[in-house]
Amino acid sequence: MKHIVKVGKVTIGDGRIVVQTMCNTHTDDIEGTVAQSLRLAAAGAELVRITVPGLQDVPHIAEIRRRLREAGCDVPLVADIHFSAETAIACASVVEKVRINPGNFHRDHEKAREKFAEFLEVCKKHGTAVRIGLNHGSLGAFITEKYGNTPRAMAEAAMEWIRMAVEHDFFNVVVSLKASNTVVMAEAYRLLQQAMEDYGHVFPLHVGVTEAGNGDSGRIKSCVGIASVLSAGIGDTVRVSLTEDPEAELPVAKYLSDRYSRTSSSDTASCHSRTCSGNLSRQDYILRAACDWGPKLLNREVDDITFPEEMDPAEAEYLRNEILQAARRRFYKPEYIACPGCGRTMYNLQAAFEEVKAKTAHLKDVVIAVMGCVVNGPGEMADADWGYVGEGNHKVSIYKGRTPLLRHIPEEEAADRLVALIEAEGLKDG
Ligand code: SF4
Repeated sequence: MKHIVKVGKVTIGDGRIVVQTMCNTHTDDIEGTVAQSLRLAAAGAELVRITVPGLQDVPHIAEIRRRLREAGCDVPLVADIHFSAETAIACASVVEKVRINPGNFHRDHEKAREKFAEFLEVCKKHGTAVRIGLNHGSLGAFITEKYGNTPRAMAEAAMEWIRMAVEHDFFNVVVSLKASNTVVMAEAYRLLQQAMEDYGHVFPLHVGVTEAGNGDSGRIKSCVGIASVLSAGIGDTVRVSLTEDPEAELPVAKYLSDRYSRTSSSDTASCHSRTCSGNLSRQDYILRAACDWGPKLLNREVDDITFPEEMDPAEAEYLRNEILQAARRRFYKPEYIACPGCGRTMYNLQAAFEEVKAKTAHLKDVVIAVMGCVVNGPGEMADADWGYVGEGNHKVSIYKGRTPLLRHIPEEEAADRLVALIEAEGLKDG
């Protein structure tokens, strides 16, 4: 049975790919968050997610929602919750959808299950939708001890919560299994879709590549991963996570929605002919190339990429390198992981990421993460070799893998200290 999910006025799971994004304002900045939500809704976001770091922010998101409705904007809001079951339960009566990772509700797995059951009852009472959102970097020991930190572990972890929802007669569920590694995320979604079909309850999937970075690389990595899932007929809603202003995500998400929606009114053939018209913007050309080649590379149907002969050779070589790296077939520069930032970010993440990229561009065979907060950043860095994690207050922590090596480093020194540590490890190119 395929379940259709209602999130306020929006339907997820009817074949159309729903476009969503997330505010990067602080939730206690009510005016700023309302203004950004209005801009995002006007630019095509069908759902707007807002972080709710703790119980003290529940009245803030309630007020944001009230002001949006007063302004005539009925975009459904999604509360983004990490760790706090109490905050999730409180939000369930306030907004249209709540995103949680139930495994983080409590250190004790049985207690996490109890809290999830309590949460579902509140959602049921208020008609609130739920996203069970599991990321590659934040799987609990309960599951990794059994399956390792693998796509299979992600799918199995999701299935536990899906079964619980079904056992509680709760079906307003969307599921996501994000990773910054495109191979891992595509495989995780495929395994989960198969597991849901075997179970007999297929829930809509929210598809995304997490911490994709910015610029061409972030767009290409997002398209390679997301297109690999959507082109297989899997997935119902997308968020493109870029370390840029969230408005910049929407043209990419809309391109993916236009290209892969499966409703009777959507027409891939006309989309395709439109994008082949030769009048594409550079961005659209890049998105199309990443969507054309990404799935083939991830499925190992091809090993390399060609572009038309009339294309500028330097641009063709650059795009070839970028797409091959996004598909993890060849690494020509450091692999960057950078979160998009949200209301938990307490420093200038976008500027820090640019500085780290500029100072580490000469390195090779290294994965560097730049993360917006110390609460989730270290856990979400997944397989990064090095992490630059903003603490706020103009201070940064530097991690080697999951271990903090330096704490409270002044922001202006942090990128240089990171490079010095990496080079001292002998990972310097040449
Ligand atoms: S890691 Fe980034 S996106 Fe995730 S909660 Fe922290 S600041 Fe927000």
